[in-house]
Amino acid sequence: MRHGCKDQLAREFVCPKCHGHGAHVQEVSVGRAMVNLLPLPANSYLAVTCGLCGYTEFYHLAIAEKVVESASELADPRKLTQKTDP
Ligand SMILES: [Zn+2]
Repeated sequence: MRHGCKDQLAREFVCPKCHGHGAHVQEVSVGRAMVNLLPLPANSYLAVTCGLCGYTEFYHLAIAEKVVESASELADPRKLTQKTDP
């Protein structure tokens, strides 16, 4: 589901800064130092970058995949915005 996950994030992204639609999604790995800053064990993330202004959100890859899959089942795209909360 990785490609579907990325496609869906890119498609449903609405930039909170410029309210633009459409984003570039890239899978990134972070090093040990960055992992220590985040309360998450794994170190693969999706960087979702606004194609208009460059604003970037990071999603934990494994969780994003689960959320996107469950959001697809429920057909409720609002679920996607909840995972950035602490
Ligand atoms: Zn933007």
